[in-house]
Amino acid sequence: MLQPKKLNELNLLSDEYLSNYTTWRVGGAAEWLAEPTTIEELRKIIAWANLKKINYRVIGAGSNLLIHDSGLKGLSICMRRFHGSKLNQNDGEIEALAGEAIPTLARRAAKLGLHGLEWAVGIPGTIGGAAVMNAGAQGSCIANWMKSVKVISKNESKIFEIKREELCYSYRNSLLQQENLLVLSVKLQLEPGHDSIKITKITNENLAHRINTQPYKLPSCGSVFRNPEPLKAGKLIEDVGLKGYRIGGAEVSTTHANFIVNKDNATASDIQTLIKLIQIKVKKHHGLMLQTEVKKLGFTVKD
Ligand SMILES: Cc1cc2nc3c(=O)[nH]c(=O)nc-3n(C[C@H](O)[C@H](O)[C@H](O)COP(=O)(O)OP(=O)(O)OC[C@H]3O[C@@H](n4cnc5c(N)ncnc54)[C@H](O)[C@@H]3O)c2cc1C
Repeated sequence: MLQPKKLNELNLLSDEYLSNYTTWRVGGAAEWLAEPTTIEELRKIIAWANLKKINYRVIGAGSNLLIHDSGLKGLSICMRRFHGSKLNQNDGEIEALAGEAIPTLARRAAKLGLHGLEWAVGIPGTIGGAAVMNAGAQGSCIANWMKSVKVISKNESKIFEIKREELCYSYRNSLLQQENLLVLSVKLQLEPGHDSIKITKITNENLAHRINTQPYKLPSCGSVFRNPEPLKAGKLIEDVGLKGYRIGGAEVSTTHANFIVNKDNATASDIQTLIKLIQIKVKKHHGLMLQTEVKKLGFTVKD
């Protein structure tokens, strides 16, 4: 087992297992890993990577990631500790640094009587990751409430703001997925002046509904496949009899077939094999190829 080493001045870790940074609890070691908490730290880390000519990638809470068992070369910058937010009760504007947890923001907004994030309470990601993925549920999505994002360009390290209209949002997709920009913060426009008790009640009910209908207590990445609208990926997987099917420690959830759960020390390879099997069976039976919603890191086209 690799032992992580710390480089003190930048708090950089080497050989740090990424299974500790994904909700699936799988993934090999990062060659380098940083968890900045401030813009100054982030700038220093990026300057270090540029000086050493080391490529870097960004991860949020790792709740939509499948990371290869052999880990990731270069620098992985995890933004989940990049915290800070302002919620304006009067005009409904929220400005949150990229690492703010979506459920925390949803709960705080509800307490202030801000309507707009009630659907988001059960999504265990960061607001930065949600802006990239256009996270959504129950007919809403982050793009509906977005004003703008502040980003840093990976090549020139320039900071600038991009308006929602320029981000080409669609179902679980945005221009931010082209990976040349790091999201620093997100501005949302919610609706002020609502009854906080009512909004909190709806928020709590949404969370309870998820806990009852999804395998919420087991490690997963949420929905593995995009819904081929108007069809539902979960229903297609159920139709081919794969609910409960297991490879190694990975299992198609018996609660919701679009979830693959880490039942017992699964590896990324177990999960990837199960993903491929599902795709083959669904293609054979229904004639359509399911596309993954989850982002794979460290895989090649051959994997
Ligand atoms: C139990 C469970 C339920 C879920 N339910 C839903 C749901 O209802 N709806 C839904 O849409 N999703 C759902 N998800 C998936 C996931 O939570 C969302 O996609 C979330 O938005 C990902 O955020 P993250 O911070 O974890 O990003 P990560 O998974 O860490 O990263 C996702 C992508 O965003 C990029 N990224 C992350 N942060 C940044 C940043 N600051 N700058 C640039 N790029 C960045 C990464 O490079 C990667 O490409 C669920 C996941 C789980 C585990």
